[in-house]
Amino acid sequence: MNTLEIKNSIRDVPNFPTEGILFKDLTTVFKNGKQLQEIADALYELYKNKGLTKIVGIESRGFIMGPILAEKLGIGFVPVRKKGKLPADTIEESYEKEYGIDTIQIHTDALDPNDVVLLHDDLLATGGTMKAAVNLVRKFHVEKIYINFLVELDFLKGRELFEEGIEIESIIHF
Ligand code: AMP
Repeated sequence: MNTLEIKNSIRDVPNFPTEGILFKDLTTVFKNGKQLQEIADALYELYKNKGLTKIVGIESRGFIMGPILAEKLGIGFVPVRKKGKLPADTIEESYEKEYGIDTIQIHTDALDPNDVVLLHDDLLATGGTMKAAVNLVRKFHVEKIYINFLVELDFLKGRELFEEGIEIESIIHF
């Protein structure tokens, strides 16, 4: 994988979705077939020997590479969604965002204790979203949890929110 080439393909969108945020837009990477394949292959190499049984993707940008990797590994995909989107029984977790509180949910039958889970999202900023997702997954007492991002904003130190025992991998760092 040419990491620098992929890094250079990410589009910076200033002041989106709110003033002062420099949004890292990965649609410019995903529309490039070669780069999409390179990322899928790199993820596969990272996780092929971990004994994963499920990938949990976070709405909505975790729904792009999450299922692609799940298919390559021959395992299942589970969505974590914003409150009110999942149709059956759910459990939920709330977390603080810049403006107010957000709630995410997962189906109560999505995971079980012998699952080895990879949580995936496109980007790690402050870490609040992923931390809430980890708390949700922990409620199933799963065997092991891994965390993956395509992009990590190192200067926000989001990874410090997570305990040492969890392996966190990001393909691209800013
Ligand atoms: P956080 O909870 O602060 O780690 O934010 C992570 C979530 O917000 C991820 O789902 C990202 O897709 C999105 N996000 C936050 N900041 C950015 C950014 N600068 N560029 C792109 N996405 C972002």
